[in-house]
Amino acid sequence: MTNKNGGARATVLVTSALPYANGDLHLGHVLEAVQTDVFVRYRKLRGDRAVYVCADDTHGTAIQINAMKQGVEPQKLIAGVWERHVRDYAGFNIGFDKYYSTDSSENRFFAQFIYKGLKDKGLIEEKEISQYYCEHDGRFLPDRFIKGICPNCGTPDQYGDVCEACGSTYDPTDLKSPACITCGKTPVLKSSRHVFVQLEKSHDFLDQYVASGALADEVRNFAQSWLSVPLREWCISRDAPYFGFEIPGMPGKFFYVWLDAPIGYIASTGKFCDEHGEKVESFWAQDADCSIVHFIGKDIVYFHTLFWPVMLDSVRFKLPSKIFVHGFLTVAGEKMSKSRGTFILARDFLDTVNHPQAAEFLRFYFAAKSSGSVNDIDLNAEEFRNRVNTVLSNNIGNFHHRTAVFVERYFNLEVPGADWEPSFAERVADTGKKIAEAYEKTDYKSVLEHVQELGDFGNKYYQDSKPWELLKTDAKAAAKVMVTCLNLIRSIAVFLKPITPDIVKKIENLFGTELAWKDHEFSLRNGTLGKTEKLVQPVEIEQLEILRGQPKDPGGAANRAAGAAGGTVDISAVKALDLRVGVVKSAEKIEKSQKLLRLTVDVGEPSTRQIVAGVALSYPPESLVGKQVVVVANLKSAKVMGVESQGMLLAALDKGAMSVLGPDGPVAPGSKVS
Ligand SMILES: [Zn+2]
Ligand SMILES: [Zn+2]
Repeated sequence: MTNKNGGARATVLVTSALPYANGDLHLGHVLEAVQTDVFVRYRKLRGDRAVYVCADDTHGTAIQINAMKQGVEPQKLIAGVWERHVRDYAGFNIGFDKYYSTDSSENRFFAQFIYKGLKDKGLIEEKEISQYYCEHDGRFLPDRFIKGICPNCGTPDQYGDVCEACGSTYDPTDLKSPACITCGKTPVLKSSRHVFVQLEKSHDFLDQYVASGALADEVRNFAQSWLSVPLREWCISRDAPYFGFEIPGMPGKFFYVWLDAPIGYIASTGKFCDEHGEKVESFWAQDADCSIVHFIGKDIVYFHTLFWPVMLDSVRFKLPSKIFVHGFLTVAGEKMSKSRGTFILARDFLDTVNHPQAAEFLRFYFAAKSSGSVNDIDLNAEEFRNRVNTVLSNNIGNFHHRTAVFVERYFNLEVPGADWEPSFAERVADTGKKIAEAYEKTDYKSVLEHVQELGDFGNKYYQDSKPWELLKTDAKAAAKVMVTCLNLIRSIAVFLKPITPDIVKKIENLFGTELAWKDHEFSLRNGTLGKTEKLVQPVEIEQLEILRGQPKDPGGAANRAAGAAGGTVDISAVKALDLRVGVVKSAEKIEKSQKLLRLTVDVGEPSTRQIVAGVALSYPPESLVGKQVVVVANLKSAKVMGVESQGMLLAALDKGAMSVLGPDGPVAPGSKVS
């Protein structure tokens, strides 16, 4: 079907939820981005026009408090976070068409536009409410600007919305002994005018939308339970000072961050359109030839299934045709938690997992665990290693390698001119339909199960056919086996391409072509193959230390920088460390590791020590020889990537670069550091 989108089948606008600009990305963000990116790549592979937009969610009290603490303007804070978000997503090959910010003129425009739409529809009401006000600071206090005693369990020092000790939620006016967090004074109650969306007036509309097929059954059930009672009104205003957009006609009142956050999807599309000479209506107008697909976590379903459709409908914008909802990410079976070391930043994963294909493997792992349900997904080091090595290395990698090497050796890189086994072609065509259905439902787990079956099947066929024997007895039969295997490898590559694009690139290089969806069908009869590359290097459990729930350690197991953040220790803990000055005698790279060096260090003992240090990205090995360093001399020795390390080097970490610590002038090896 040809249409205005250059002959593409269909146009789809796809989004991930906007990460909050108050901190760095963690692996939960990466999970969602991978799920979205795989979907987008699949649709592109099918020949659809898929546009992937996202943005930083930048407004609200938390950003304001954080900026205040750091003594910078909020704009400066969010600019730095934006750069880090973009960089970290890129590390996982997330292919946004536009990554923007909600603190933008486009977002201001669309927030005001939708507010006017809600007003024109008679959905907005203004009311006076009673709220805490600090007379000392001259401001109304949002929930997070008040602390007091939990009304439920009596724990002191709790915020105005939720108790961290017992988890109960309440209104700020329920707190006992409330105090302003800025000045510590007791606030007074004062009346303030606020804006409310009368959601209940849209109840029938929401009943219809929720039943429209945009939601998976289990999510629809949630939403319908919310709709079984009258809907509460929704307050969309906040008092100044607030980092956000002022409400037109209401000086000193700002849109609540949750109003303008999802509008960021539209603003980001708007920016994309500006840059490509298109109009935002061609994506978002009700009659646009496009569908809208959101990916979100289960914690924000209410916003996306109830508030958001009402906002869109008020300006006759297109409603999402699919909202895919995923569960939370757990690590080593635990909720992500800083104290347990299971809260893993995207950057720390990239910097610490010492394998050049680490990011691609995580994409694969997340896909293998994503079935389209809202169940939580666990990230576990052993399972990670087993899945990667079993499927990518031993199954697909092996099938690819033995076939390509055989064709290289006995057919001089030529695709044998023979007919393939017809039952295979049928089987693959049939599997292709099932895989397409699974991709459409974001059931990537099934996709990979089918791929793994094809790989098993191919390996068994190769093994049972014994082409190395056929070569001597029946060259035609050998040619048939190889052309069948080559076609099967090409099919597998097409099916894997949305999930592991970099690995598939190597197969594309072999066939000398960029693979499209139709290439999964057997059609390869002749041609010359390119160079064979090994698809993957297996991953070792030692490389996945960061997934095992140890406290956070950006420098790698072999190289803990001094002065870990958070908590205090007493002097005995410091005295327990035997820190000594050493001189590096030799340094060399460790095979298969980009980040590790094997050093021998003289620490004033009869023989030198072997120490593994994660500084290879910052130091060429020869530059360390002769350098004076600080060594933890009484560290229990351990194996790192199979190499024994008898101690540890101290180094500082700054934006991913390591700087080795040493004395400020020549000091004898073995001198104690205190
Ligand atoms: Zn409590
Ligand atoms: Zn105050």
